[in-house]
Amino acid sequence: MEDFKVTKVIDIGNGVKIGGKNFEIIAGPCAVESEEQMYEIGKFLKDLGIKLLRGGAFKPRTSPYSFQGLGFEGLKILNKIKEEYNFKIVSEIMDPRDIEKSCEIIDIIQIGSRNMQNYSLLKEVGKLDKPILLKRGMSSTIREWLMAAEYIEAEGNKDIIFCERGIRTFEDYTRNTLDLVSVPIIKSLSNYPIIVDPSHGTGRWELVPSSTKAALAIGADGAIIEIHPEPSKALSDGRQSLNFNEFKKMYKDIEILKREINNDRNG
Ligand code: PEP
Ligand code: MN
Repeated sequence: MEDFKVTKVIDIGNGVKIGGKNFEIIAGPCAVESEEQMYEIGKFLKDLGIKLLRGGAFKPRTSPYSFQGLGFEGLKILNKIKEEYNFKIVSEIMDPRDIEKSCEIIDIIQIGSRNMQNYSLLKEVGKLDKPILLKRGMSSTIREWLMAAEYIEAEGNKDIIFCERGIRTFEDYTRNTLDLVSVPIIKSLSNYPIIVDPSHGTGRWELVPSSTKAALAIGADGAIIEIHPEPSKALSDGRQSLNFNEFKKMYKDIEILKREINNDRNG
């Protein structure tokens, strides 16, 4: 098996690419909560040089009584931040009926873990000319995940980015078990890039920096990370969200590790 296999490069626009020799960091809150929260996060990430902003407007929550996201209001907020700071936007779509309207704002459509086998949704996003971030189902095998990607591909869309976000096991110290070996396995079985989500993969912010470094070291093409200005007040996934200081420290460490890995590989 080839380490650091170079995959297809997915062009997101504005010079942003996922795949190839790049390790791209996508960051932002679990959910868009308010304009104020998003301006704060947007400014912080822009100053660091991050180009891809995540933020859920439609949230798949386990309980119907939990915060469900701001919906189209959330997308409007994302659009303001996008225009202000020139980000590319990553956000989840759950309902095929929301695709058309959302596509005006979202640059990478996230298919969440709970929808990895929602075949009608996969077929609909397969018809788009827009990159798809396909998260691994929380109880899905690598083969099932690859087949889900084929549903998208079969409709014509060949801009797919896999995202390992952890799977359910007997282990309950962490929210999920982050199956990092899926990275070289997916790379050996497909030509698409794969990124890692250490936030959902662990459920604990203190494990996010080390997991992100491990993702880089195992050959992932990037990571998607949840941050929040005040994680204890987050409306969703605060426990796994980094605050600004923690994120900044991790980002610097990743930059150093990236250089070391590249020097080492280039001789
Ligand atoms: C998310 O990205 O906030 C999310 C809900 O992810 P997942 O589908 O992996 O649980
Ligand atoms: Mn989340």
